[in-house]
Amino acid sequence: MTRSAPDSCPGVLRLHEAADGSLARIRLPGGRLRPDQLLALAEAARDLGDGGIELTSRGNVQLRRIGDAEALAARLGSADLLPSRTHERVRNIVASPLSGRLGGLADIRDLIPRLDDALRAAPALADLPGRVLFTLDDGRGDVSGLGGDFGIHAVGADDYALLLGERDSGIRVPGTQAVEVLLAAAHEFQALRGEQWRLREIADGPARIVAALGLEPTADPLEPPAPQDIPIGWFAQDDGLVSLGAGVRLGALPARTAEFLAAVDRPVVLTPWRSLILSDLDEWTAEQVVRVLAPMGLIFDAASPWLLVTACAGQPGCAKSRTDVRADAADAVTEGRVSPSGTPPAGVGLTVEEIAVPGRQHWSGCERRCGRPRGVVTDVVAESDGYRISPPVPR
Ligand code: SF4
Repeated sequence: MTRSAPDSCPGVLRLHEAADGSLARIRLPGGRLRPDQLLALAEAARDLGDGGIELTSRGNVQLRRIGDAEALAARLGSADLLPSRTHERVRNIVASPLSGRLGGLADIRDLIPRLDDALRAAPALADLPGRVLFTLDDGRGDVSGLGGDFGIHAVGADDYALLLGERDSGIRVPGTQAVEVLLAAAHEFQALRGEQWRLREIADGPARIVAALGLEPTADPLEPPAPQDIPIGWFAQDDGLVSLGAGVRLGALPARTAEFLAAVDRPVVLTPWRSLILSDLDEWTAEQVVRVLAPMGLIFDAASPWLLVTACAGQPGCAKSRTDVRADAADAVTEGRVSPSGTPPAGVGLTVEEIAVPGRQHWSGCERRCGRPRGVVTDVVAESDGYRISPPVPR
């Protein structure tokens, strides 16, 4: 593949000029936010943007209609949300959101800042494409299948498989070497990649990196992990406290809701499924959180139809969009046209009112289908003469 344009992933210092104004993307390694950082994001969204925080499929966030980019950078810097001006767009690290609190084979939480620190300390990696993704899976298999370029996957409490292009290389390393080997693989990718942006775009890329690393595969490759449910609702932590998983309608978190979340004063993790986890709550506080935040739109019911629906930006944010797909998708949910199961219809030239799709579905304003989640999903795509529904296929 030959690129005709440079990598144009937005960041805080390089905004994307969307149809509705400037868009900033803020990297949050592991999706982790302190309460004060969530509050800073909410205030920035309200004072400098359109009042909303968009959650992305990498546990990052976007702010739209930014009017004063310098003021945004200053605010984020004050909240430790812009720790590097050279590496800000390459800090794409997805990690198992519940790690260390319940489940999993290992606690990978310490690896997140270690990987982030090491990335930012490597001048040659400032030029990694903004699309490159690192995954840190604690062994439960929730993030290793999310399309990472470089990943580790726990196979024991201190034993990690090195994943290259989502596949197990057969190389095993202890936790003390995990960051080092991930960085070494990223350096080799930089040396190989030419104009390519992703490891999967390089012929025999994983094998060439294994050879360059000089490490011997010592294990049979792991099977790809099975798809998992989004963590929604009440989770009892191993230490007796509680984590709450909350869905966010179409991944759009209003600043006011974020301010309420920040006021709970507990750690927040934004997940790669455009949801969030509020952790380390006692039971009484967890009950109050659900009582207050469910009426504000956060979803604590794993059976909610909102959890089946995703949508691209659509109008007015994207000039390519043929319609306001987010409003149409929201109408489909609130009008009861999204059901948990059934036979998906196929058709073309459909009006919004004719669309009643069961199961997971992604609504797009054009054929590019931005933000489509992985797995088996029905596509609902706006065309010039109405919507087209395609049979569900994995992607
Ligand atoms: S799928 Fe099309 S309309 Fe939607 S955000 Fe992407 S380019 Fe824009």
